[in-house]
Amino acid sequence: MSGVDRIETVVFDWGGTLSIWAEVEVVDMWRLAATHIAEQTGAGCDELVARLVEVEGRMWEEGTTRDFRSFTLSEIMQTASRELGIDVAEAVLEEAALHHLDTWTPHVRHDPEAVETLAGLHERGIRIGLLSNTHWPEAWHEHFLERDGLAPFIDVRVYSSEEEHMKPHPRIFELALERLDSGPRSAVMVGDRQLDDVKGAQQVGMRGVWKHTRLAKQWPGVEPDFEVQRLPELLDLVDRLR
Ligand SMILES: [Mg+2]
Repeated sequence: MSGVDRIETVVFDWGGTLSIWAEVEVVDMWRLAATHIAEQTGAGCDELVARLVEVEGRMWEEGTTRDFRSFTLSEIMQTASRELGIDVAEAVLEEAALHHLDTWTPHVRHDPEAVETLAGLHERGIRIGLLSNTHWPEAWHEHFLERDGLAPFIDVRVYSSEEEHMKPHPRIFELALERLDSGPRSAVMVGDRQLDDVKGAQQVGMRGVWKHTRLAKQWPGVEPDFEVQRLPELLDLVDRLR
């Protein structure tokens, strides 16, 4: 009866779960970075933007459904440049990454109920983790968590960009649990994607909580242990299973 084990650890996904998906065009997100690389190398900007979008999409698709290998922002830019035959210096890539961050910054927003939910879980003595599939560097995420007041409540943060694998590979869930000093049966994973978050968690013996959002991704054959519409419902769930 794993469904009634009390909850001692809650691990959150970030995109679409603690944060709100931004209404942006991916093409616009790459424009500044591509302009910088184009200026420094003489490459065609539009061609570069299109290739960056294509490579990013491909890496996400492969990473989350086929090889579960993580990747980084730098690797997206390196791959796109290499495929176009452009030789880009490391320093140029680093500057382009900063432009990419500048572009994203105004669009990064956390769920308005995230802080109160994290605070409520913290008050109840729950260990809190973050497990994010991301190509952004750790420092960017930490900046946004600090900016919006989430950071003090999250005991352990695991970013796929800093690790070998990404969700739903079991290893990255195990890593999060190890760092949280938690066993799987007393832990739940909360996420908006049924494959990466819910099924991934269930594969290592955690329970999976599916958070409904407008863009939440269902996956055939996945049965979440619990479902929530809003983050504060997690407090009721924890109280109910005490
Ligand atoms: Mg997500």
